[in-house]
Amino acid sequence: MSSPEGKIAIKPDWCKGCGLCIWVCPKESIRLAEEVDHRGIRIACFDDSTTCTGCGFCYMICPDVAIEVYK
Ligand code: SF4
Ligand code: SF4
Repeated sequence: MSSPEGKIAIKPDWCKGCGLCIWVCPKESIRLAEEVDHRGIRIACFDDSTTCTGCGFCYMICPDVAIEVYK
């Protein structure tokens, strides 16, 4: 496994599943959940097997401030 430089946390109840973070992530580190949540939404999930750099693009684009970045 690689050693990612960063990681993110997505607040499940703040995410509306818009997918902007997935679109912007250069490392394909975010995907939509397979299952819908209690609101019927497929929320964004971090894939920790990827090489997240901690660039913060996902944090900057999220309209709901649902993402925290750790570097
Ligand atoms: S950009 Fe924010 S609200 Fe949209 S899917 Fe990503 S975490 Fe959820
Ligand atoms: S910090 Fe950058 S590399 Fe990591 S998940 Fe967000 S956009 Fe992707």
